Amino acid sequence: MIALPDIKDILSNNDPVFLEGLARRSQKITRQYFGRAVSLYAPLYLSNYCSSHCTYCGFQSKNRIARIRLTPPQMHAEMKAVADTGIESILLLTGESYKATPLAYLKETTVIAKQYFTNISMEVHPMETQEYRELFLSGVDGITVYQETYARDRYKEVHLSGKKSDYDYRRDTPQRAARAGMRTISMGILLGLSDAARDLLSLYEHLRWMEKHFPGVEYSLSFPRLRKIKGRAFAICNVGDLDLIKILCLTRILFPRVGLNLSTREAPALRNHALEFGITRISAGSNTSVGGYHLKTAEEQEPQFDIEDQRSVERIVRYLKAKDFDPVFTDWRAIENSV
Ligand code: SF4
Repeated sequence: MIALPDIKDILSNNDPVFLEGLARRSQKITRQYFGRAVSLYAPLYLSNYCSSHCTYCGFQSKNRIARIRLTPPQMHAEMKAVADTGIESILLLTGESYKATPLAYLKETTVIAKQYFTNISMEVHPMETQEYRELFLSGVDGITVYQETYARDRYKEVHLSGKKSDYDYRRDTPQRAARAGMRTISMGILLGLSDAARDLLSLYEHLRWMEKHFPGVEYSLSFPRLRKIKGRAFAICNVGDLDLIKILCLTRILFPRVGLNLSTREAPALRNHALEFGITRISAGSNTSVGGYHLKTAEEQEPQFDIEDQRSVERIVRYLKAKDFDPVFTDWRAIENSV
């Protein structure tokens, strides 16, 4: 495993020759293991109720926003709007409210989502293994859960209340999901919250541990950077574009087979650039408000964070093809998740 001083050296080294070598190695490995395939997915927010208080998030419990939870007819409308764009892989998200979006609600949502999508993942409140098992059996293939930061002190500073303030419970979530049989698990850190090099090392160690104990799971990593919410900055992001590219390249070199995701939090130019160096999965045509695809006008929407890449799915597909990438809407079709 790489050591902390090595990560720090890489993040502080801006020598063009070094950067060129890093990028070329990362690109070569990516082509070797993934070819030119780029998977597409979209996030769909089900609810913005949240009982936790994270200082950097627009959904946090103290924020006075209109709270909404999609009803089944509203889910159909939103999901149809996304499916009509061609998207087949959906990431269903909620705020973290065990009361507003309990397991029964998530299972009901999955049944509806299966009518529109071939691949269903969830980014919802952390659960027990048995609950994940029930979700898996109802048709959920994957779980996304980011530790945000592995620095305990910083974690405490920005996660003020609610279940999310329980560091250990969150850190152990990927293993509970894996034990339940989830096929894919996405992990990550929120860049800009804490020291990037330390968080990277902890994330790498966490992933290595998961790969050792649950080798059958398909893992992917994300490196979202802190974003403004409706134009208001919640924290200063000290991770620049070049830093992010270096992080992606380093991660690809250390984990050749792991998927690397990049969301529409990032601007089109950076996303285009990152595709050359290791990104294998991108969101497209995204909206981060509940009801944002069909039910609510732009003025009515309360996003979790602002998005930078506003391109439609069609435009992104056109771009990918022009650059000789192979856009992939689905490479997986679950007939039935079983015991
Ligand atoms: S990050 Fe998640 S848990 Fe924290 S306030 Fe936002 S929705 Fe709630």
